[in-house]
Amino acid sequence: MDKPLGWGEEALYLYERPYPTINGEGNFIGQSCVFVRFQGCNVGCSWCDAMSTWPGKKGNKPLGTRYTFEDLEEMFIKEFWNVNRIWWTGGEPTEFSKDILHFIEWFEKRNPNHKKIWHMITAGEEIYVPLLDKLDFITIDLKPPASRAFKGDQTVQNEFIGVCLESEHLYKKLEFKMAIAKTKEDITYGLNQIKLFDPINVTVQPVMWSESEVKKNKSYAETLKDYSLYLEKFQQPAHEVGELPKGWVSYGEFAETFLNSVHTNNCRVLCQLHKIYWPGEMDGI
Ligand code: SF4
Repeated sequence: MDKPLGWGEEALYLYERPYPTINGEGNFIGQSCVFVRFQGCNVGCSWCDAMSTWPGKKGNKPLGTRYTFEDLEEMFIKEFWNVNRIWWTGGEPTEFSKDILHFIEWFEKRNPNHKKIWHMITAGEEIYVPLLDKLDFITIDLKPPASRAFKGDQTVQNEFIGVCLESEHLYKKLEFKMAIAKTKEDITYGLNQIKLFDPINVTVQPVMWSESEVKKNKSYAETLKDYSLYLEKFQQPAHEVGELPKGWVSYGEFAETFLNSVHTNNCRVLCQLHKIYWPGEMDGI
């Protein structure tokens, strides 16, 4: 494995200051939680609504804002004292797996009376079993064809899923979610995954674009061209605005597509709550 699984400091490099919010997706939708978003993602989804998280480093130096373990402890214990669910997200949090595990162990040792519930939502880029064992819940963000995640190579994610499914311990923590574009390939992929993973919960959500999101992505795309590392990894940038995968016209249209086709009990057909509560204002997976 040639990529780092963290920076090895008693600090995390984050896209933004951790914040309490209402979870907008998946099995835990509507619950209060704190999002901790890392700076750095090598997945390259065509519909990413958080492209500014992509560059993780410049040269050998981490990008993002540095928060020491003590900074985070202060937030978790004092500021967000009554929010138990902490979500590691990004960017792509598995790129920082060792740092996350280091922090959780450090935090729990110093604060045995402040039990937190540790979640991670991930595309499954890096497999680091000690962290997966430590987490309470793992949400895998499935990547259908129109996402062009990992440059269209699904073996990376499939390996991660395989590790989780093979372990009885990890299997129990698992849920899946996926965004589906309005393409035949994505709909077929979605329906197949729902059947494949039954009885594990699978949430399907529509890819929807607002004018403000398209504008914001275009401006991020211009910024990212400044990073040579980014250009090495994404020879053919997946985020060109003209190539955005086809979104759905309405939530009803999306719901009816899956309503008529799903015959399992593990599927949730949902919108992304944050796009309704804060339209055009927030980004994030
Ligand atoms: S959607 Fe998530 S995994 Fe995909 S490129 Fe954006 S931050 Fe990375």
